[in-house]
Amino acid sequence: MVVIEKQSIITSKECLQLLKESLLVKRAEKEKYIQDLSAQLIQLGVQKHEFDKEGSTYSEECNRVQSLINGTFSELKKINIVLDSLEKGTFTGICNDCKKCIPEEELLGSPTRKLCVSCQQKMNNK
Ligand SMILES: [Zn+2]
Repeated sequence: MVVIEKQSIITSKECLQLLKESLLVKRAEKEKYIQDLSAQLIQLGVQKHEFDKEGSTYSEECNRVQSLINGTFSELKKINIVLDSLEKGTFTGICNDCKKCIPEEELLGSPTRKLCVSCQQKMNNK
């Protein structure tokens, strides 16, 4: 029986392995950051009475921390999607715009990218 290699033929196995490792590190960092921010939010609740003397600072501070948490969660989601596709062997490393392979060094620089650097720049210039 011939086992068909499901992993992408365009991106080398070494690159996929490196991608996975760097995503796992990033995921751990994000999870830690969310924990820290959640602790900050709890701490803010404890100190609420101190803030109230100064008016709206408390809710502003809560909103700031909450939006950091939300931002980190959405990054975490992107990381998990890429990790999942690496796990399932459905990861293609193809640019969503020009449909060419994203160069390995670009992928490794930013593992969750969906566009190659030149398409990204075109997008940014629009
Ligand atoms: Zn492209």
